[in-house]
Amino acid sequence: MTGITILGATGSIGLNTLNVIKQHPQKFEVIALTANKQVSRLEQLCLEWSPRYAVMADADAAEQLEQRLKQQNSPVKVLSGTDALSFVSSLDEVSVIMAAIVGSAGLLPALAAAKTGKRILLANKEALVMSGQLFMDAVRENGAELLPIDSEHNAIFQCMPAVKMQGVTRILLTASGGPFRTTPIEQLDTVTPEQAVAHPNWNMGSKISVDSATMMNKGLEVIEACWLFTAKPEQIEVVIHPQSIIHSLVEYVDGSVLAQLGNPDMRTPIAHGLAWPERMSSGVASLNLFDIARLDFEAVDFQKFPCLQLAYDAMLAGGTSSTILNAANEIAVQAFLEGTLAFTKIPKIIENTLSQITGRIATSLEIILEDDKQARHLATQIVNQNI
Ligand code: NAD
Ligand code: MG
Repeated sequence: MTGITILGATGSIGLNTLNVIKQHPQKFEVIALTANKQVSRLEQLCLEWSPRYAVMADADAAEQLEQRLKQQNSPVKVLSGTDALSFVSSLDEVSVIMAAIVGSAGLLPALAAAKTGKRILLANKEALVMSGQLFMDAVRENGAELLPIDSEHNAIFQCMPAVKMQGVTRILLTASGGPFRTTPIEQLDTVTPEQAVAHPNWNMGSKISVDSATMMNKGLEVIEACWLFTAKPEQIEVVIHPQSIIHSLVEYVDGSVLAQLGNPDMRTPIAHGLAWPERMSSGVASLNLFDIARLDFEAVDFQKFPCLQLAYDAMLAGGTSSTILNAANEIAVQAFLEGTLAFTKIPKIIENTLSQITGRIATSLEIILEDDKQARHLATQIVNQNI
C-alpha cells in the first residue's frame, strides 16, 4: 500500500484524486486529507476515508471539524495551520503527495514534501511559479520526484524524451481559449464572475477558472513548463485548441511532433502520476474520434489577453518577477470574484505592480516570501485605488 496525503482534498483536483484512488483500494492508503475551511466537506471525506490526519488551514474550522468528528466517534486526528500542512506532507508513512491547494498557500507544504524526498503530484502550479529554481533544487537535492498533473504538462511529460529537451525544438502548449475566446474585446469590460467561471470544457475551482478566462492560466503554465522541462520561454508556443482533446505537443528536430490526446478529464493525468512509470485505469471514457470529428487550432490574440505576455515577460526577467506576477494576479482575481474589480483591470493591476517592484534573484525562501508579501500589499493598494 502506498501512503498518500491529499493537500486540497475538498477541491476539484482533490475530489478527482479520491475518485481515482477509490477505483484502486488495494494500492493506496489515504493518510491525510486537508482543506482550508470547508468543514462539512472535509467531515464527509473523513467519515468515508478514515485518514489518520485531517488538517484545516483555518483554526476555527479545525475546531468545528474536531467536535463534529468526536460526536461520531471518529478516530481521525484533526490539526490546523500551515505547519500542520507541512507536517502531513513530510510524514514517514507518506510517499506520495497530491499538491492540489490553490494558490500560494500550497508552496510551503509542497516544499516540505520535496525536502523529505516524496513523489509530488503537482497540480498547484502557483507553488512552482513562485519559487522556480528553489523548488527544482529542493526536488533534486532530496531525491524527490516531481510529476506534473496539470493536463498540458502531463501531456508534455509523456511526449518528452528521457533526457529532457534532447532533440526538442518546441513545446506546443495548448489552450482552450476559455469562455471569452469568441467574445469581442470591447465587451470584456463588463463580463461577470459567473460568466468567467463558466469554462467550456473543464469543471475547475473558481481561481483557475478566472485565470483561464484571462489566459493568465496559460501564462502560469508557460512558466511552469520552463521549470519542469528546463525549457526557455521562446521554446514554448501557445496554441489555441478549443476542443481540449490534444493536451499539448512536443516538436523534435527531425520534424516529428508527438502529442498526447484524451477526453478533457483530470482523472487521466492524476492516474498517470499515481501509477507512473506503470499505467492504471482512471474511469475516463474512451476517446471517440468519430464523435469529435475535427480538431481546430488558432493563434492567441495577445492584445485581447495581455496576461499571457505579462507572464512571458516575467519569466524572461527572471528571479522573483514571477513571484510578483503570481501574487498580484491572486489579489486581482480575488477582487474580480468579489465583484469589486472589472475583468479588464486584472492585467492592469499585475502590470502596475510589476512596474513598481523590481524582481530579485531568488536565492532563498525568505526573499521569495518577502517579495510575495510586498506584491500582495501593493496590488491590494492599487486595487483599492481602482474601485
Ligand atoms: P479548488 O478551488 O477546487 O480547490 C482548492 C483546494 O485548496 C480546496 O481543498 C481548498 O480547501 C484548499 N485551499 C484553498 N485555500 C487554501 C489555503 N489558504 N490553505 C490551505 N488550503 C487551501 O481548486 P482546484 O481547481 O482543485 O485547483 C487546485 C490547484 O490545481 C490549483 O493550483 C490549480 O491551478 C491546479 N489545477 C487545477 C485543475 C482543475 O482541473 N481543477 C487543472 C490543472 C491545475
Ligand atoms: Mg492546465
